[in-house]
Amino acid sequence: MNEQRAIQAASSTGNYGQLPFRFMRLDTGQVLVTSEAGDFHVLDPSTFAAFARREPLADGNTLRGLEAKHLLYKTSPETAVRLLATKLRTRKSFLRGGPSLHIFVVTLGCDHGCHYCQVSRRLHSAGRYDMSLETAAAAVDRLFDSPSPHLTVEFQGGEPLLAFPVIRRIVELIQARNVQECRQIVFSITSTLHHLTDEILEFMRIHDFQVSTSLDGPADLHDANRPLPGGSAHELTVQGLQRARQALGDESVSALTTLTRRSLERPKEIVDQYVRLGFRSIFLRPLSPYGFANKSERRLGYAVEDYLRFYKTALSHILEINRSGYLIEEAYAKILLSSILTPFPTPYVDLRSPVGSGFGTLVYNYDGGVYASDEGRMLKEVGNDTLRLGSVTDDFQTLMRSPAMELLAASGLAETLPGCSDCAFVPYCGPDPAGSLSRHGDPVGHRAESEHCQRHMGLFRILFNHLAEGDPATLGIFEDWVHGVPSVAKAA
Ligand code: SF4
Repeated sequence: MNEQRAIQAASSTGNYGQLPFRFMRLDTGQVLVTSEAGDFHVLDPSTFAAFARREPLADGNTLRGLEAKHLLYKTSPETAVRLLATKLRTRKSFLRGGPSLHIFVVTLGCDHGCHYCQVSRRLHSAGRYDMSLETAAAAVDRLFDSPSPHLTVEFQGGEPLLAFPVIRRIVELIQARNVQECRQIVFSITSTLHHLTDEILEFMRIHDFQVSTSLDGPADLHDANRPLPGGSAHELTVQGLQRARQALGDESVSALTTLTRRSLERPKEIVDQYVRLGFRSIFLRPLSPYGFANKSERRLGYAVEDYLRFYKTALSHILEINRSGYLIEEAYAKILLSSILTPFPTPYVDLRSPVGSGFGTLVYNYDGGVYASDEGRMLKEVGNDTLRLGSVTDDFQTLMRSPAMELLAASGLAETLPGCSDCAFVPYCGPDPAGSLSRHGDPVGHRAESEHCQRHMGLFRILFNHLAEGDPATLGIFEDWVHGVPSVAKAA
């Protein structure tokens, strides 16, 4: 909304004037009211009705609370709107730097046969699906074309460690170039950790790698989800975890779950396995609708309500564990709560508006294709190249002005999308053009049939219900998650 329109919208009546707001009734019966910039207030229904009708509010505390949250003004609408605009600029400040997350898909090769694989992996076959060194060098040039002062370089596959020489070359090129560029660069890798060697671990230690692996829960569940010919994937991952922690430190090694239908029956066991293995964070991630996962969705997939039921139980269990003294965060809740409870932009590109694809993320595929997101690359693997921006040999301007980016710009602002524009959760949410393309064939999609929307609507409701209930212990745990209290130090 431009400043002039917002000032008109803030025309005063009674003892205050309204600023733009959205609202939603919570399970507690209270009404959540959110501002354009993501501040929120929870009102009882009669107070909300009075506020919505712009009737005078008898309670001075409520009036002051709504004013502090940029939901009304008492004196100058111009000043109120200017303050609101400043907060909105802060929340959207991720737009200033251009793409900062750069994903290098160094190989499609993998020796696993995961039923839900999201990346359309190929059986490892002598480097046939590895990134060439020429492609790697061109991708590094595109990385430095991005104006962002902070760059995260993430290596993915397939199993990226099967192409370690390519990773090493990319890191060497980046480090050499960065002597002049002086960017802040973080290296990360998503790997099964089955192919770690002393040489790889030493290389990761020198370059401060952040390591993420997949751990689906207890051994039988993990191995059923991730069959490995001739062995136990769980056993090898746990061995890899121990080696990686020893070499890089506990804080540099994390894991995330992929939840299949059989996982949903075991929320507590999955959480307990993470605690048993000493993790301080668990990411309860649902099945992705992309890549091979799409084909096996009927067999492994589930309804959003089933996921949300699972999530609610698992989150309650995690809160109980925290109350009993072992500090462990749920990463999805932490991401959403950080948007809700702080004025800062979300680092999570999947929930940015304008969309994180392309504007926040670029993906360099093993074959030289450049995609707006990992999901865009997965769509290409199943025959849909709508989100392919071009090639690593194209210059940055060409990639950023490609038809794919035009499509994302036109469909990637949640505040303008049907359904989202009226949603109380839109300040913390983002659009899902890749998911809409995958499921509906167009990037705008239909919110009522969108898994992304239903999932986030449900997750936001769960968290806002907790916030509205106001249990001090739960609020304290949420604050710790958001403000990153060092869990190990605090537990000591
Ligand atoms: S995707 Fe759904 S939950 Fe998110 S803002 Fe849009 S309508 Fe709201």
